Amino acid sequence: METPDSDSSVPPPHVLIFPFPIQGHMNCMLYLSEMLVYSGFHITLLLTDHNLSLLRNNSSSSNNNNNSHPSSLPNIPRLRVLSIPDCLPADHPRNLDGWVELLDSLKTNACPLYKSLLLDLCKMDDVDADGFPAVTCVIADGILPFMIDASEEVGVPAIAFRTASASSLWIYYCIPQLIQSGEVPFRDGADWDEPINSIPGMESFLRRRDLPSPCRLAKNPEDKVLQLLATCTAHSERTRGLILNTLETLESISLEQIRAHMPTTYAIGPLHEMVRAYRSQNNVCAHDKSVSLWHQDCTCMTWLDQQPHRSVIYVSYGSVAVMTRESLIEFWIALVNSGEHFLWVVRSDLLRGEEWTNIWDSLSLEVRKGTEERGCIVSWVPQVEVLAHPAVGCFLTHSGWNSTLESIVGGVPMLCWPFAVDQQINSRLVGEVWRIGLDMKDACDKTTIEKMVRAAMNGETASEIRKNAHELAKMVKNSVVEGGSSFENFQRLIEHIKSLCK
Ligand code: UDP
Repeated sequence: METPDSDSSVPPPHVLIFPFPIQGHMNCMLYLSEMLVYSGFHITLLLTDHNLSLLRNNSSSSNNNNNSHPSSLPNIPRLRVLSIPDCLPADHPRNLDGWVELLDSLKTNACPLYKSLLLDLCKMDDVDADGFPAVTCVIADGILPFMIDASEEVGVPAIAFRTASASSLWIYYCIPQLIQSGEVPFRDGADWDEPINSIPGMESFLRRRDLPSPCRLAKNPEDKVLQLLATCTAHSERTRGLILNTLETLESISLEQIRAHMPTTYAIGPLHEMVRAYRSQNNVCAHDKSVSLWHQDCTCMTWLDQQPHRSVIYVSYGSVAVMTRESLIEFWIALVNSGEHFLWVVRSDLLRGEEWTNIWDSLSLEVRKGTEERGCIVSWVPQVEVLAHPAVGCFLTHSGWNSTLESIVGGVPMLCWPFAVDQQINSRLVGEVWRIGLDMKDACDKTTIEKMVRAAMNGETASEIRKNAHELAKMVKNSVVEGGSSFENFQRLIEHIKSLCK
């Protein structure tokens, strides 16, 4: 794939990549960085000081080398990491409870620092101390439109990368129509199962409850989060291009609609699979376990090795969801009562203001015994590896877009329990459009969860979603290799970036 420019007077493209500083956004923008390096580019991945120090702590707890490059980042030539402060106190929650303040602080406080860093990086005549030439292009997270504008102001062309599903973006784009039709904000007493008619292409399956969570939370049309999502999505129309971690066949309807407004849209996903395919075809040794802000507990892989084929339900709510003690207890009892083996990721900050381990004493003896016999609870796992393990029969997921793609590639059917933002529409796609899982949204009682776990793991429904998931996985894997749509779109993106760098 490496295609350095034959004209040696033209400096090689150097792209600065700036993800919104949460795990899911960092993961897929790191995969993009790696693919661009394989295409001959220099890449500066810009993180926040806070996240870089978490990565460094993780790496020093897992190895003792003194290398300044965190070991949980891939050690790839021409890829370096720089950081700027997010300008928030160290103990600010960088999860769903604190993301709006994080965004505000990046806009107000960090953006001027970003601009001055970019000025330094783009004004060089030669290479810098790391051997990197001047930055010639920026790929910034599309939910940071002010960073995109700042890049253009400095004179560096900028492309937007949105890490959510194309379907959720299409809905965000249509927020003005949803407001105009009176479908959003929800009226008091509105039927959440009522069809939504103002999103072209989605009339056959979209219900009110499937709209992204800001639509259900908004009390008025001026709601801050609703307007923020509408504005940053509309902003992508004015950027040099839009990159999406999805693929043509999976979200053809939304992509077609988006392209009517943003013609230079590149669907190049799933990026984690594109990287894996590239590495395996080119014998590239992978040094990384992806970027992890939490320390990965790999003992779960040994536990999985000891479980029968497809006997385990893997449970995770992603990197930013926070839940109540009551919901966690309902899940716990249901998982044990289902009789299935379960691997459960419970992050240290999953419960608001409380350690989840406090709950243990309030559980019945029966539930504790069932947990010890059939459960494995860990704080963070290598998720892509877990989903590729033959013992995993189903993924009880919060329907984050990365998790959804990772499960699709693994051919693992899903039981969806969405929390927020795009997760409500993603779970509808899984349950109703692709039919590779069950959608449990808005239910959180132990009886329903137990019933749904059993249905997703055994019986006729389980066989059907498993078969569909298996077929979809094959199709998706084909998209990232030569001749596949994501592979070809990626080649077009490379040419587009090169044309901007001249
Ligand atoms: N993840 C992981 N280990 C875990 C849980 C999650 O590596 O124990 C990764 C997962 O593979 C995915 C990301 O964290 O790439 C979560 O992103 P997603 O878009 O699914 O959800 P978000 O965290 O943004 O809600």
